[in-house]
Amino acid sequence: MTEQHMTERRNDLPVAVIGAGPVGLATAAHLIERGLTPLIFEKGDDVGAAIRQWGHIRLFSPWRHNIDPASRRLLEPTGWVEPRLTSLPYGHELVEQYLEPLAAITAIKTVLHTSSTVTAVSRMGMDKTHSIGRDERPFLVRVRTADGAATDHLVRAVIDTSGTWSQPNPLGQAGLPAPGEAEAAAAGFITGPLPDVTGADRARFAGRHVLVIGAGHSAANTLLALGQLAKNEPGTRVSWAVRGADTSRLYGGGDLDGLPARGQLGARLRQLVEDGHIELYTSFTTTAFTTGDSLLVTGDTPNGPVTLNVDLLIPATGFRPDLGILRELRLDLDPAVEAPRELGPMIDPEFHSCGTVPAHGAKVLAHPEKGFYLAGMKSYGRAPTFLLATGYEQVRSIAAALAGDEKAADAVHLELPETGVCTTDLGGSCDAPTATAVGSEDAADSCCAAPGPVLIGFPTGLAHGRSGTLTD
Ligand SMILES: Cc1cc2nc3c(=O)[nH]c(=O)nc-3n(C[C@H](O)[C@H](O)[C@H](O)COP(=O)(O)OP(=O)(O)OC[C@H]3O[C@@H](n4cnc5c(N)ncnc54)[C@H](O)[C@@H]3O)c2cc1C
Repeated sequence: MTEQHMTERRNDLPVAVIGAGPVGLATAAHLIERGLTPLIFEKGDDVGAAIRQWGHIRLFSPWRHNIDPASRRLLEPTGWVEPRLTSLPYGHELVEQYLEPLAAITAIKTVLHTSSTVTAVSRMGMDKTHSIGRDERPFLVRVRTADGAATDHLVRAVIDTSGTWSQPNPLGQAGLPAPGEAEAAAAGFITGPLPDVTGADRARFAGRHVLVIGAGHSAANTLLALGQLAKNEPGTRVSWAVRGADTSRLYGGGDLDGLPARGQLGARLRQLVEDGHIELYTSFTTTAFTTGDSLLVTGDTPNGPVTLNVDLLIPATGFRPDLGILRELRLDLDPAVEAPRELGPMIDPEFHSCGTVPAHGAKVLAHPEKGFYLAGMKSYGRAPTFLLATGYEQVRSIAAALAGDEKAADAVHLELPETGVCTTDLGGSCDAPTATAVGSEDAADSCCAAPGPVLIGFPTGLAHGRSGTLTD
């Protein structure tokens, strides 16, 4: 087959979308609008599989920012009733009122493969080392189905929107598991990242000593629920260990926060700690786990080693992307954040806790592997500040680029939820109400001019430093 034939044949192929979360389904909607055919692989047995695991958590951004425009255009003719745009949905409502109706639309339903895990992505007939004619080759996507069978699919492009939920950061120092961590997890002492402690998982936590390690939105939600449980279930004890020494960063902006729900979360958490319902250990670096009848968690502190004897441990240390499935692709990632190289410095959590991000699309997200993109939560690598609205704009631009509409691909624009409070690790803090459009250079350069999304758990071991000028 000539190279020209190969290219023509490749352009007839579908575009693989890995993961049917909100950004994966939005990708499919944009591809469909552009006349391209998506082929969606979802490892869960239904759409929104990751969100279902935190369905009991309320989002901090209102519906207005959680619905992708192309998806809305697909939904509207079906008689779909749009939720009240100003209300904050729970995770399960996002799935039931938005993702499930979207997945039921014929154009999506017919190309959606659930219980289908992508185990590898490569180029047909070529490993990573082969260059000649590489761009003309279709991608090969290897998929494992529930019966254990592996099937190879040929596609013209791949958009990986598989999120980071299945890869929590380890609890030990230096980004590594602490000695004994794997054994503690295997013995059932370490739970998933956001258990439903007052609902479905209540019996597991009632009357136990529970330790939460990590900070951010996930930790705050879990600790508040544990505080409530402790009030109603005698014998329940709650401890909280964080690496940092600065407690002010743990509670957010309180009354100054432009997102009232987030401000209240921090204020209530502070109250629980100050009233002694939660025992807080700051400057705590987890160094060892010992598994027995209970779990011994040892940490280094400025006052020497401390060992906590607990029944259960809930990790809230953030997530990292699964890059293993992409091993045969030529990626260009920021060495610290594991996001596409150009995006990395804009979202590096060591310098950008306020989530400053300019609008960006196909160009910023491109890799040397032409036709491959990371989008959604996974495009943020280890950075915890991703917002759905950002992902929806990413995939609008990628679909336009794949359809050959470079002008539309380059015309990026982003409106994010207004928050108004953000801090930087450089000691700065902004508390003025902010503009919501984040498409301009000015916005990109200013902490105060950009919204500050809630961190979903602080990643560990990011003490890497970064050369160059810091802008916020
Ligand atoms: C508790 C919590 C609250 C949040 N609140 C907000 C909020 O209020 N506002 C906001 O804008 N953002 C919020 N976020 C951040 C972010 O928007 C969500 O994490 C969102 O779910 C990301 O969407 P996604 O489609 O990129 O990834 P996900 O929703 O994680 O979807 C990825 C999908 O890929 C599937 N998958 C994974 N690996 C594979 C594989 N190998 N093969 C096939 N399928 C695979 C998964 O099963 C999953 O269904 C929140 C996140 C968390 C954890």
